[in-house]
Amino acid sequence: MRLIVATKNNSKFREIKQILKGTPFRVISLKQLRKAIRIREDGRSFCENALKKAKAVSKAYGDDLVVGEDSGIEVTHLRDKPGIFSKRYSGRNSTDLKNNAKLLRELEEVSFKHRTARFRCVLAVVRNNKCVRIIEGTLEGYISGTPKGKGGFGYDPVFYLPRYKKTVAQLTLRQKNKISHRAKAFRKLKVYLGQHRWK
Ligand code: IMP
Repeated sequence: MRLIVATKNNSKFREIKQILKGTPFRVISLKQLRKAIRIREDGRSFCENALKKAKAVSKAYGDDLVVGEDSGIEVTHLRDKPGIFSKRYSGRNSTDLKNNAKLLRELEEVSFKHRTARFRCVLAVVRNNKCVRIIEGTLEGYISGTPKGKGGFGYDPVFYLPRYKKTVAQLTLRQKNKISHRAKAFRKLKVYLGQHRWK
């Protein structure tokens, strides 16, 4: 059976495929689908967006199991911003580099202990256009003073983990996949998938 992950983000999909290894599902991304899917990501929460992504796909591929994923970073000092706007935080032509630079500028005057942040990942599992499960994973950390590391994507170079004395971008993919918000959510999904019969 196919499990469609409603994302076009290659970096995310690489992480997700590694986590879902060993399930009986053929895991595919939006990029591998024939029909064009229009997704409007205009929800007011990670959950709403995850659901919108999954339902848009499920309308065209009702027989398949579809997982919508939405994720982002919340910074305590910024009252949990950028949140659902993580990808486009620095405006229309946002890039990871510009987003990180904006975040660091905004926290310039803030001491390390007040630079707490969390990555959040919400999954919506949908079949025949009906939501059957919502799953969440989080990773707590701090926003560093300067970007470090070349791995990962997005805010990884500025997301510092005291336990490792490293940013997420300084971890290997294997290490990131042990602890990340996405890994936690998809591991819960793996357990959920194993508890049900899918035909
Ligand atoms: P989405 O593709 O609309 O869900 O946007 C998620 C955005 O949140 C990404 O473009 C990144 O900026 C940020 N983000 C989500 N997960 C991660 C992660 O694992 N590392 C770094 N940034 C992330």
